[in-house]
Amino acid sequence: MDDRNIFITRYGEVALKGLNKPYFERVLVEGVRKATRQFGDVEVKRREGLVFVRAPKEAGTAKVAKEISKVFGVASVSPAVETESTLESIGEAAALYMQSRMEEGAATFKIESKRADKSFPVKSPDISRIIGAKVLDGCQGLKVDVHKPDCLLFVDVRKGKSYIYEHKIQGFGGLPLGTNGKGLVLLSGGIDSPVAAFMMAKRGMLIEAVHFHSYPYTSERAQQKAVELASILSAYCGRFLMHMVNLLPVQEQIALNCPEEEMTVLVRRFMMRIAEDIAKKSQCTMLITGESLGQVASQTAEALVVTDASVSMPVMRPLIALDKVDIIDKAREIGTYETSIQPYEDCCTVFLPKHPVTKPKLEKILLSESKLDAESLARCAVMSRETVSIGQG
Ligand code: ATP
Ligand code: MG
Repeated sequence: MDDRNIFITRYGEVALKGLNKPYFERVLVEGVRKATRQFGDVEVKRREGLVFVRAPKEAGTAKVAKEISKVFGVASVSPAVETESTLESIGEAAALYMQSRMEEGAATFKIESKRADKSFPVKSPDISRIIGAKVLDGCQGLKVDVHKPDCLLFVDVRKGKSYIYEHKIQGFGGLPLGTNGKGLVLLSGGIDSPVAAFMMAKRGMLIEAVHFHSYPYTSERAQQKAVELASILSAYCGRFLMHMVNLLPVQEQIALNCPEEEMTVLVRRFMMRIAEDIAKKSQCTMLITGESLGQVASQTAEALVVTDASVSMPVMRPLIALDKVDIIDKAREIGTYETSIQPYEDCCTVFLPKHPVTKPKLEKILLSESKLDAESLARCAVMSRETVSIGQG
């Protein structure tokens, strides 16, 4: 007998796929395998539109369920009890389950059943009634409450084996990682860009990251903070590369040769150019930023147009229409917020103009840029990058 814990894993959007569904399912199963292999002897099997995971008891129920729920593509996961598909076995298992729940303080319950196996001779409402009666028989003092039970127990009757579960831990949904190309995220130490990376990865995109610093104007600790954020992301996005680029030589040249109020937008155009070059070398087909419309001077509609004109690669801005409060909520949910708000300086705060242009004109910006050897400045920055590997697995 297999006495490992069992987890029923449901997938959301993957289930709606047409001819490509087997491919998405395969990648999803692989993702669940990767996320749970730290627990040792784990089995991951797909059956009837679900993924069944068996993991050693010592791994703990909550811990394994949490890891599974973090895999993109997973809609929800339920720690479950497996029984034979007979009313006798299901009833016994349900009574045992409720006995342990009573020890934790549950006084009322309700059974909800469904038959995935339509050939099972008893219909769902009758299954609930019969199992409910068996539970009452086996649990002295327990009562039924159909409106607000302490424990709502689900019974899922399938061919061969059936399952009982109480909790549904929500996953992030989305699509399995690796099913949607690779993008390069411009990862600052702020709140927004880690959320942007998470959102694209949730849609199946592998990520790589570039972080700009102005060492020694910005500290090593500020770079460390960006690496920490990347490490938190790697729990969702898997292992990835992060390129550290010193932007100081570029900033110095702009400060020397261009109008002060254009500093921010000019720096952003360089960031994009450098990122595009690194992206091409890394087989990334898009850039990802944490920009949100109107958030700061460099994110007005006009500034975004001028920024985009510096590259030919598509720039994904998954936060473009989100308010800051919503971005903060998401950052808290994924666990990056506390690190993001640590007060270390960003390269953008070096040479910060007092009055940045908020409605830059491309012709004027191009004129200012013509005073610089933009191509060679960008090339040097790319060449001097340092690359670190983030995460494990
Ligand atoms: P964030 O919280 O992401 O830092 P922000 O509100 O501070 O956002 P900006 O500083 O204008 O906004 O940056 C906008 C976007 O540009 C960021 O979301 C990020 O994608 C990119 N970016 C900014 N600074 C850096 C940096 N030092 N390294 C890499 N990317 C950066
Ligand atoms: Mg920032």
